[in-house]
This record gives sequence, structure tokens and C-alpha cells, in this order.
Amino acid sequence: MPEGHSVHRIARQFDRNFVGRAVTASSPQGRFAEGAAILSGRTATEVRAVGKQMFLEFDDDLWLRVHLGMYGAWDFAGEILVDPTIASANGRMGQTNQRGTDLADPILDAAGENSLTSIGAPRRARVHVRMSEQTTGLADEGDEWPPPIVGQVRLRLLTEATCADLRGPTACELQTPDEVAATIAKLGPDPLVDDVAEGEERFTSVVRRKPTSIGLLLMDQNVVSGIGNVYRAELLFRARQNPHTPGRDVPEEVVRGLWRDWVRLLAIGVETGQMMTMDDLDPDAYRRAMASRDDRHWVYHRAGLPCRICGTSIVVEEAAGRKLYWCPSCQA
Ligand SMILES: [Zn+2]
Repeated sequence: MPEGHSVHRIARQFDRNFVGRAVTASSPQGRFAEGAAILSGRTATEVRAVGKQMFLEFDDDLWLRVHLGMYGAWDFAGEILVDPTIASANGRMGQTNQRGTDLADPILDAAGENSLTSIGAPRRARVHVRMSEQTTGLADEGDEWPPPIVGQVRLRLLTEATCADLRGPTACELQTPDEVAATIAKLGPDPLVDDVAEGEERFTSVVRRKPTSIGLLLMDQNVVSGIGNVYRAELLFRARQNPHTPGRDVPEEVVRGLWRDWVRLLAIGVETGQMMTMDDLDPDAYRRAMASRDDRHWVYHRAGLPCRICGTSIVVEEAAGRKLYWCPSCQA
């Protein structure tokens, strides 16, 4: 499932490539045909990401709300402008596009987690094709424009130069400004949207009065925005916190520490495109970790493997229908 860092990256991509431009909208699959017809021809004016949801504003106070859910993803094609401040961390500079003329050896994840062109639920097969185009600088001058429709595209947004295809979202709908405000008001604080100190107070006060386990509270988008299964497991391990402790019994300093760590990890995630949750890696270990998920997490997806700190087998269990990974010794 795409976590908060992906949605913020998607919003930044929309900011660079769509805001200020006239957009042609369509729903090749048909399930958003009415909405697409209303959007088409308007200019995108603003984009916001809050937690796992993106809000794209068009002329006349019309907003598009997209929640990718478990399986959603955006695929970008054509001109893809890269933010140099973000790109520098990955060795990318300036402007580039799908042909990859300008990529200075970015460390791309083998599973496509930080793909430049597909953000959301990883789709191995298709992402691999794209990534090889990027890394080999394959010439594709003869490619069709707009790109052919592949699969179930709920919404296609097209400018003169850039194409964004949305597949498999949980929510894709038009909202009024009041509806957007009401949606956002229900969400817990997001470190990249809300004042960080205020967010810490809100998060701490809610967690500290709940009987629900801290493992479930971290995933509750009304408590804190943007944390999914990977960040949940890793944040709790980094805090050496038992996931089953009721929120109200977690010491206040630990709760505040979880928020501050989320602020840190989210910033790294947005910058690198990956849920990098390990600190103080030497350059070789950092490259390995950026290239492969198996080398960048403490406990996530490590069931049965020895804990990197104490050697105890990492445990996996079901919690509210999602897999929860933790070390029963470090997080006793
Ligand atoms: Zn351990």
C-alpha cells in the first residue's frame, strides 16, 4: 500500500507538471466518465497531499480527490519534470523525461518502489520495462502520443506534454471546497501539512487517552496521517515499543518520540522515494539498502529472520487484517 511519502511525491509531480496548465481528462475505463467530462478543459490550479489522499484543484473551485488505497497507482509518461532539490539525493539533476536522457545513476529499487514514472502500489512487470528505459536511455522518439491505454485506467489527465494515468484507486471523486475541508478536518496531523509542534500535541493527546493498541493507532488515519504498514512496524521497532501496549499506557516521551521519528522518516521518504528506515549506514550498505527492500528495514517483511540487534526471530501476526512485524525481545 502506498504510504504518505508516495502521495506527497505524487502531489509534487502534479505541481511540477500539471498546475498552471490546461488539462484534458478522460476515463478510458468508464467508471469516472462523468467526472472526467466535468474536469476536461479546465486548468489545474493547486495540489495538496494530506496523509494518503491527494486533492487537485481546478478552475471554479472544483477539486479532484484521489485515495490510492491498497492497489492504486499513478503512471506518468511524456515530460516528467524533476525537482532538483529532491532529485539531488538520488543523483538526478534538472529536467528529464521518460527517455531518461539526464539520469546520473539514480539508485533505483529493484521492486520499483522509487520509480520515477509509477508511484503507488508496485507493479513489477510494467515498472521493470519503464526502469530499463530510464537506465539505458532507450530512444523512443517514434512512440505514440498520447501513450496507448494499458489496463483499467480510471482517469487519464493529459497536458500538451505530460500524461498521468490513474489505476485502481479506492476513491476518485469530485469535491467542493467545503467537502475537501471536511475530509481534511477528519484526518490526523501530517508532518508535511500541519505545524510540526502542533501536530505533536494533537497526536500525543489523542494517543494518550486511547485504550487501543499503539500498533493500531499508528495506522489510524484519524490519529496520524500517512503511516502505513511498513512505517508502522519500523517506527515501533526504532522506539523499541511493544505494538500491543494501549496508547494511554505508552509513556508520553515515547509517544512524542514516535511523532518526531515520523517527521524524520517521512522527509527521507519524500526525498528518496523509498521507505528508508535505517540510520548510520556506510556508503555500501546505503546503496544496498536503497536498491533492495530486504536491506533497508529493521523488522518489516522479516518474519522468522534474526533481529538485526538481538538475533531473536522476528514475529509476524495479524492485526486488524494487516501483517504486523516486531521483535518480541527488543520490543518486549
Ligand atoms: Zn531484537
